[in-house]
Amino acid sequence: MLNKAMSNDPSQLVQLDAGNAAAESPAHSVVEKKALFGLDAEQLKELMAGLGEPAWRGRQLAQAVYHQRVADVEAITTLAKSLRRRLAEAGWEVGRARIAQVFRSIDGTERYLVECGGALTVETVWMPEGDGGEAGDGSDSGNLQGRDAEPLGAPPFPRSSAERMGSHKSQPESARNAIAVAEKGGQNWSRATICVSSQVGCAVNCQFCLTAKLGLQRNLTAGEIAGQVVSVLDRQGVEVGRDRVNLVFMGMGEPFLNYSSFMGAVRLLVSEVGLSPQRMTVSTSGIVPGIERFAEEPAEMRPKLAISLNAPNDEVREQIMPINRKWNIEAVMDAVRQVKLRPRERVTFEYVLLGGVTDRPEHAHQVARLARRTGLPVKVNLIAWNPGPGILYAMPAAGSVEAFRATLAGEGIATYVRRPRGRDIFAACGQLKRTVER
Ligand code: SAH
Ligand code: SF4
Repeated sequence: MLNKAMSNDPSQLVQLDAGNAAAESPAHSVVEKKALFGLDAEQLKELMAGLGEPAWRGRQLAQAVYHQRVADVEAITTLAKSLRRRLAEAGWEVGRARIAQVFRSIDGTERYLVECGGALTVETVWMPEGDGGEAGDGSDSGNLQGRDAEPLGAPPFPRSSAERMGSHKSQPESARNAIAVAEKGGQNWSRATICVSSQVGCAVNCQFCLTAKLGLQRNLTAGEIAGQVVSVLDRQGVEVGRDRVNLVFMGMGEPFLNYSSFMGAVRLLVSEVGLSPQRMTVSTSGIVPGIERFAEEPAEMRPKLAISLNAPNDEVREQIMPINRKWNIEAVMDAVRQVKLRPRERVTFEYVLLGGVTDRPEHAHQVARLARRTGLPVKVNLIAWNPGPGILYAMPAAGSVEAFRATLAGEGIATYVRRPRGRDIFAACGQLKRTVER
């Protein structure tokens, strides 16, 4: 049942050197190491105050860590050498999550193993041009004419090399390097999506998902979640405010079972890194208390919401997502209705098409009815199931994805098909698991 195009043999994966694997020096000092990355502006101010420094030095720290993306306290040149030394002596290091390994797909997708302490790694995925999941939510370039026009206040997005050759002074070094590459025609994406993990493994146990096989190993901290993003922005030379980058919290784990860290990361990414929450989407398998908490978040800090519906009714959903026994579709929808949507915002229903199980024509009609019954502005993202070792489902038959889309669209439901990205490197939805095999 495995897709023939997909290699199961890890030796066939294109593994690239992340470039900094040898850079780590083990700490022999007795001083306990503490990470600056993960602290918000207020905490950085307090830290500086504790060292007898004025509060605005905290701002400089935030600038260095989140904008210049320094990886080392020594590189924070806005601080005097003596102050940098005092920070280091007190045990402070930047401590950002580090990309340890890179796998590059033939389609340009990159999958990263990101180290977060000890032997554990999580997976983060870079998808140049996205995977279609962003379509119809106002954040893709092909959608500007329709009713999902660009969110108000979004920055302009110049792409010509001449425009990109403007002043680079305030940009991180890697961004300047990337622009140099772009000027040579090397950077060939006009928008991109980063898929972020929120836990190592997952406890939810959806039957079709490879991450579920790991069980839950550990929650990530806010700094580790935001650190994945900043490390990828740095690697790709993204210039925040100009480049069009979407974030999806759809990697390993269930964000709403690690709620405080997930939202802590969002706050860092919005307030310190400068990303827009309207270009972020969090996906949940339907953790009702999490959705209810999410409904309380202020609009300026809240990502968009996606629900992994994945089935046309409770009966089928229970079989493939045991969590449905705790919170059924109606309970999930009741919680979703509490979220105050922004103008033109829609809730996404993710729908994995499992051959013979969730992809039949009558299922499409049921999903359309269900979507209408919610009374919510929704769009449906169809995902053809990505196979994984030891998971005994079938991919949807050729033509059934398009037939499903056409049926939903015919019933007036905005429906998009997500392109599988990076299947050859196990980077596609539900394939993120190889972490522990490092
Ligand atoms: N835990 C969250 C977010 C991570 S999973 C959630 O479940 O929503 C992100 C998306 O990938 C979910 O919509 C999930 O249904 C989908 N998915 C999981 N395994 C998949 C697979 N093997 N093929 C295709 N999509 C999959
Ligand atoms: Fe966890 Fe999401 Fe996979 Fe379900 S689909 S097991 S919630 S990661």
